[in-house]
Amino acid sequence: MNNEITFFKFQRKFSTELRCLKYLFKQRWPNGFICPKCQHNRYSFHTSRKLFQCKNCEYQASITAGTIFHKTRTPLKKWFWMIFFISKNKTGYSILYLQNLLEIPCYKTAWVMVQKIREAMQSREVLYKLNGEIELDDAYFGPRNVSGKRGRGADKKTPAFIAVGLREVKKKEQSKSEIRPGFLKIKTAQNVQQETAKNFVLQNIEPKSLLKTDGYKSYKFTTNFDYNHQAIRIGNPKETLKYLPWVHIVIGNAKGLIKGVHHGVSAKYLDRFFIEFCYKFNRRFIEKRIFNNLINACCSTKTVTLAELRS
Ligand SMILES: [Zn+2]
Repeated sequence: MNNEITFFKFQRKFSTELRCLKYLFKQRWPNGFICPKCQHNRYSFHTSRKLFQCKNCEYQASITAGTIFHKTRTPLKKWFWMIFFISKNKTGYSILYLQNLLEIPCYKTAWVMVQKIREAMQSREVLYKLNGEIELDDAYFGPRNVSGKRGRGADKKTPAFIAVGLREVKKKEQSKSEIRPGFLKIKTAQNVQQETAKNFVLQNIEPKSLLKTDGYKSYKFTTNFDYNHQAIRIGNPKETLKYLPWVHIVIGNAKGLIKGVHHGVSAKYLDRFFIEFCYKFNRRFIEKRIFNNLINACCSTKTVTLAELRS
């Protein structure tokens, strides 16, 4: 079944605030209202406060409780449009662009909305780990520093670990197969020392996986853990594309987006950028379903406060 939400389908389905509320209602009570306190099924609705009041015990149930929209002062329509735009664009939008497009009065509000949507993405991303054959490397993100020093040890840049799962794709015509990227994980780190490399791997990669690296000393921890390690000695840096192609293509793409679309992302919020980047990359084969997946995630992820987002 093709349940892709196209522009016009979306426009019809979520044309008014009430329709957005109805959608939330169906997510929360698929079989009709049930009072969380006394299980009664008759209610009255308070439009302005988005509350459903039980006609039996007068308990007031908030329709947005348990969603990222909880206590928002922004119309749900704008939220839904933002989720729609974010889900439909592979490269993402800058927050300023979304703010202007959706006529959101202040930048901070738009910023918080985007971060909350990313929080919902993260709630899905943490559900799985990579396994099998994996290209693993580290890279530095941030503005080019004065000394022009690049690579490991470049100061003022933020290090991050990148792991790309590999999958074998059989070609139909010939009996050949080729290696293509599967799932992706990226996370910033304090440094690229052995301890941080180990933490990244343990958190994001299943044991018994085969880690392909450039043999950097930080990856030697694998001998004490249940991972297989293939250290590829790369003499000439230009050859990395030959031996670890996908991890470097991903790093290049992420850097391109940070510079081109977002005009730079500060070190503090780099991980939030990576969440959206990985979420979309990992769903590139089910692009048509991203909106539905994402709005479901938003409806089942508890909201976070501004203070939590800034920490
Ligand atoms: Zn009740």
